Amino acid sequence: MAEFEFLQNPITKKWVISAPRRAKRPDIAKGSEPPCPFCVGREKDEKEVYRIPARNASASVAGGGGKEGDANWLVRVIPNKFPFAPIHEVIVHSPDHRKNFDELPLPHIELIIKTYRQRFNEHQKKGQVCIFHNRGERGGESLPHPHTQLAVVPFEVKMELSRLDPQASVGQAPKALGIYSNTSENQIVESEMLETPCFYLFCPKTSQWPDEVWIAPKSRGRLFGEITDEEITDFAYTLQRLIQIFDHRHGNEFPFNFYIYPGGDWYLRLIPRQKTIGGFELVTGIFVNTQNPKETLSFIKEHFEKPDIEKIKLQHQAEYFRHV
Ligand SMILES: [Zn+2]
Repeated sequence: MAEFEFLQNPITKKWVISAPRRAKRPDIAKGSEPPCPFCVGREKDEKEVYRIPARNASASVAGGGGKEGDANWLVRVIPNKFPFAPIHEVIVHSPDHRKNFDELPLPHIELIIKTYRQRFNEHQKKGQVCIFHNRGERGGESLPHPHTQLAVVPFEVKMELSRLDPQASVGQAPKALGIYSNTSENQIVESEMLETPCFYLFCPKTSQWPDEVWIAPKSRGRLFGEITDEEITDFAYTLQRLIQIFDHRHGNEFPFNFYIYPGGDWYLRLIPRQKTIGGFELVTGIFVNTQNPKETLSFIKEHFEKPDIEKIKLQHQAEYFRHV
């Protein structure tokens, strides 16, 4: 039997992926398979598709250092052993089994985002490149070593994702940032956004989940693969700060998901996963949000210091890249 199959319900036209082999995934969180496949020392177990080598490897290894199979890496990409799409990869955040976005050094988070960009551009002509991160058991994580997944979904499979309002804020300072969902259009007023040098962070009025947050680049109308190095510095800082603020609000290691919109006019949407879906939401697809998005944004604003990009760049050179 095939590892997975895309099936469309002929009446509702909704898609499902049948992937029974994924039930055989190891569940380290439950203690069924202790050795972690993403840790240092397991490099030879899986074919590697990409890596960011450790800088100190380049001097000692011919051809740029950090070869497939050795342990001199900072970020690694391997094929998912239990795929549900024709291309399905795992981006291992770092050799550290425990540290994730909230604890890794900021320059390292930039390397993770740069890896997202490299993999996105590698695959974007082949299908819809979905990059998503699951944290915590409630977030769907089955291996605790922090990682992100990338799945390329065939173009013909229609995904039900909200998108940014293409009319709002392109090429000018926005008065509002709108979102289209499948059924409605809503405007977000300026006072409900937080601005960084390159991004807007906002909590839509139409949020389905308590405390969901969107981050969209000010330079609109582009694919994620077009993110610049300058934007990555800001994005890494903003994402880390947001997760740290939610650690403070919900407790360390709170479960969450985020995904990066695969189409044009990209954004990232982060969804804390404390809430359990009830029968009404499950059946109708209409969510009952018990959290006021305005309050969420006020909380974030209270704890968010805007990044000074130039200062961050200098710090990176001085404190981090010297050592890696
Ligand atoms: Zn590990």
